[in-house]
Amino acid sequence: PEPRVSKLASFFSRFPPAASDRPADRPRALLAAMTVEEKIGQLNMVSADAVITGPAGAPDGLEGLDRGGVGSVLNIWGDDARALQRIATETTRLGIPLIFGLDVLHGHRTVFPIPLAEAASFDDEVWRQTAVEAAREAAEDAIALTFAPMLDVSHDPRWGRISESCGEDPLVTERVARAKVRGYQGSDLGDPRTLAATAKHFAGYGAVAGGRDYDAADISDAAMRTVYLPPFRAAVEAGVAAVMPAFISVAGIPMTAHLALLRGELRDRWGFEGITVSDYNAVAELIAHGAAETGPEAAALALASGNDIDMVSGLYVSGLPGALSQGSAAMEDLDEAVLRILRLKERLGLFDDPTRPCPPSSADDIDRRRQIAREAARRSAVLLTNPGDLLPLQADLRRIAVVGPLAVSKPDMLGPWAGTGDPSAVVTFAEGILAAWPDAEVEIVGVGDRARLEAEAVEAARGAQAVILCLGETAAMSGEAAARADPSLPAGQQALLDAVLATGTPTVVLLSSGRPLVAPALFAAPCAVLATWFLGSEAGHAVADLLSGAAGPSGKLPVAWPRAVGQIPVHYAHPATGRPHEAGNRYTVGYADLAIEPQFPFGHGLSYGRVRYHGLSVAAHGRSPDDPVEVEVGVSNDGARPARETVLVFAHVRVQGTARPLLALRDFAGVEVPAGASTTVTFRTSRRALTGCCGDEPYVSPSRLEVVVGPSAAPEGQLRARVEVPVG
Ligand code: BGC
Repeated sequence: PEPRVSKLASFFSRFPPAASDRPADRPRALLAAMTVEEKIGQLNMVSADAVITGPAGAPDGLEGLDRGGVGSVLNIWGDDARALQRIATETTRLGIPLIFGLDVLHGHRTVFPIPLAEAASFDDEVWRQTAVEAAREAAEDAIALTFAPMLDVSHDPRWGRISESCGEDPLVTERVARAKVRGYQGSDLGDPRTLAATAKHFAGYGAVAGGRDYDAADISDAAMRTVYLPPFRAAVEAGVAAVMPAFISVAGIPMTAHLALLRGELRDRWGFEGITVSDYNAVAELIAHGAAETGPEAAALALASGNDIDMVSGLYVSGLPGALSQGSAAMEDLDEAVLRILRLKERLGLFDDPTRPCPPSSADDIDRRRQIAREAARRSAVLLTNPGDLLPLQADLRRIAVVGPLAVSKPDMLGPWAGTGDPSAVVTFAEGILAAWPDAEVEIVGVGDRARLEAEAVEAARGAQAVILCLGETAAMSGEAAARADPSLPAGQQALLDAVLATGTPTVVLLSSGRPLVAPALFAAPCAVLATWFLGSEAGHAVADLLSGAAGPSGKLPVAWPRAVGQIPVHYAHPATGRPHEAGNRYTVGYADLAIEPQFPFGHGLSYGRVRYHGLSVAAHGRSPDDPVEVEVGVSNDGARPARETVLVFAHVRVQGTARPLLALRDFAGVEVPAGASTTVTFRTSRRALTGCCGDEPYVSPSRLEVVVGPSAAPEGQLRARVEVPVG
């Protein structure tokens, strides 16, 4: 069809530039021309299912779309989305284009490791690159807005959504936030290969009581300020386009109606100018929260509190007109919210071309993307145990047994939130091993009921030189609405392991999961355990690279791994206490029936090298809190294979007015250390940064500050040095 002048273009043609150096304010011109219904429509985000079928008794979404009653649609992509875009731009009075939103969390067609796994790479560039590629694929499918990155710090592996998080550490989450925003959004949202990003779920969702999804959280002001909010602030500083309030309540206030955080913190203090988009149905849930009695009340409360877009509840459409005429909602709030949405649409280039034409990926693009997925997966796996250096396996193995349903399952490799990913393009563990040992006889025991699987596995193990045993969770066991009271090995898996180990054949366990799994017997067993999380489309190739030694494992745990469910929540950043833990002294912090240390600390992860830290020096320059502090440490590899090591720099404020965490991560960097080599890693920081004053918080002069550098949050292998701070 020949290009026509769109409705919107002819509307804008009436508004020439105000001056040659100042373009016309198109969003404001549009706003001035809109009816109240059209304005409310811009705040209305509907789900594709509702558009197509219409929720029972509710007005049909498509009909509303015709009248400009819909501003954005989620869960639709490709030609279906393009068809809706034509309706919006050709049929509605003003022709304002829609935004299509989707949870593009860790890939679209090509799937990268789940966020918790990717956090283990401790690599800003890995985090950025996978977002660039995911954005490109989704943008090709007409998506303009992703509901990612998820920035909820969590200490609780019972919570199924820990899989979508970056783990327990605020700094890691901040760095992921910056990298993901840069990756998804690029340098200009007008580039049709980008997506607008959403920092979610603002804030504190990771602290839901007992790890139960949707439950309330109770968070102290100090924890909010130092743990839960900083990643969101980092995303705002990086220019994130959208923020999604969590649907839970924190300290009694539902986040969808949290005036102090949504307006006071986010907009007034941080200067956020993007849009806020409620979580799914969260405006209606204000009624169940007990924050509002009726639909119109809920709608008025959410808008007044600073929630711009109503995702799927429909209450803005049904409730705001009445609330506006009764004065319980303000036209000024409505106008501001609409203006922000129109500004985003303009930035996305939708006013100039509502198709946002993203050039299709070439075959080379797709190949390169697969390579990135493979590298990201290699970097995300964490070698938890490796007794007797079982790994890497010998290149000349002749007979390998690959055992367990997860060895051959394609969809499970994708993990949660990978709905648009193509399972048929997944490389399974079994396929990866077959490709890496082309001359070996590989016996695959993947399916069968429990008894049969066990019998066949034992048989295969007896005839093999090595067993690759694939244990852990299926993808459906983590993600939203997948809290587990007992996040341990699924039923029957320990018995399968015991039976295989009884054959005496060297065994490597590939442990799939969206969270740390409590499995003390597994970790005490004479087998190597590689945490493979959910590694995505290239899982099999990446894992085979690590098993064969073609690449070395370098991932480190972004979250402590508990040794018992009763230890949860477990994390390294405990506040100081009056009775610090002392082994053998029960009148100090701890359990009478369990060690206090987790199974594996934050930062744990083995390599094929033998890494040692030495020669820590800390040089503070100048007297002002912002003067540089240089931290230098030697890292040697005494092993026979190269290692990539992530060096963690923690701070410990020894004397301070309030009980500070004993350790707080302040920086990290990865370094390649060849076999037998030694290198020096340098960090530049400041006393202010080391004491952890964030943003506009006042700097509190610490009387003594210690820098702690090491491979993990556990004392083994750590080095400490004091930073003397001049008085006054
Ligand atoms: C989740 C959000 C997600 C939204 C849209 C909700 O259930 O909590 O994280 O972005 O659905 O799919």
